[in-house]
Amino acid sequence: MTLVQLGPPRLRRKCRQVMVGTVPVGGDAPISVQSMTTTLTSDVDATLRQIAELTAAGCQIVRVAVPSQDDADALPRIARSSKIPVIADIHFQPRYVFAAIDAGCAAVRVNPGNIRQFDDKVKEIADAARNAGVPIRIGVNAGSLDKRLLVKYGRATPEALVESALWECSLFEEHGFRDIKISVKHHDPVVMIAAYRQLADRCDYPLHLGVTEAGPRFQGTVKSAVAFGVLLAGGIGDTIRVSLSAPPVEEVKVGAQILESLGLRPRQLEIVSCPSCGRAQVDVYKLAEEVTAAFDGFPVPLRVAVMGCVVNGPGEAREADLGVSSGNGKGQIFVRGEVVRTVPESQIVATLIEEAMNRDWTDPS
Ligand code: SF4
Repeated sequence: MTLVQLGPPRLRRKCRQVMVGTVPVGGDAPISVQSMTTTLTSDVDATLRQIAELTAAGCQIVRVAVPSQDDADALPRIARSSKIPVIADIHFQPRYVFAAIDAGCAAVRVNPGNIRQFDDKVKEIADAARNAGVPIRIGVNAGSLDKRLLVKYGRATPEALVESALWECSLFEEHGFRDIKISVKHHDPVVMIAAYRQLADRCDYPLHLGVTEAGPRFQGTVKSAVAFGVLLAGGIGDTIRVSLSAPPVEEVKVGAQILESLGLRPRQLEIVSCPSCGRAQVDVYKLAEEVTAAFDGFPVPLRVAVMGCVVNGPGEAREADLGVSSGNGKGQIFVRGEVVRTVPESQIVATLIEEAMNRDWTDPS
């Protein structure tokens, strides 16, 4: 694997770039966040409503499941009306791949473990995708690994996942088609990390990161953050999908937050709040929640410190754009390192908002 310097101290695995509609994936493109709709794709209005919600939450690429002809028939309207590129997710039926390409989908995901007779159709699929400028994601999943590889490896090991993906890629490569991105998902972050590391060393395709079936919101968030954090910090990964047993908007929020935490996309709101302790002179949990809610959607990225006492409070509050250090029923309000006011506890949130609104944050002075 070759790493390229993206400005100190960031390294990124060198790979090809594919275009998923208007969104570049791989190369030096920013890492994109994607999600998947949970509606019946054949219910076009509901699907477009959910895509609009995901778009508003920051989703950059959306995938829709295509398990039936009714779903395939819905693709032209969905692809035409969505504001973000739509990927058709195809299992079992090669003919839906052609339908998705004809429908104007920005990409197609195929699962080599599930698509039967797929290998015979590769030339046709490669020709259709190439003519339409549509990339293909080879999406290997531990839960549906090719039976041949399950027999060979005994279970979905990193080696088995990688072999499945690279075998499928080789079929496309035989026909000169390399407009490919790959995922090798597993529910266990340790296996998943090992699989992506191996894959990163053995090909130059862009990689779609995912911990599959990561679980409910809390567990899935932790698993995804751990796995993506390890890989992205090592320069591996070009687009991410957080899989949660929760509404897909949550997946997008978590994905965006992971990228922001790693400095891979500009921060929006960052709350620096202390965990509270026996010295706290304010209900820090409540105050942090209230400040978070009050600044949600604030148009300028800000770092806001919410601190429970004077031990670390003034230091953190001074480092942030805005901050409060609490004590004795009052809050010292900081703006860009200076104490500007001291207000009663009940006025802390309103004062922070007022101070935020009164500044031109684009002016660095
Ligand atoms: S800032 Fe004060 S209250 Fe908060 S954790 Fe630190 S010492 Fe405790």
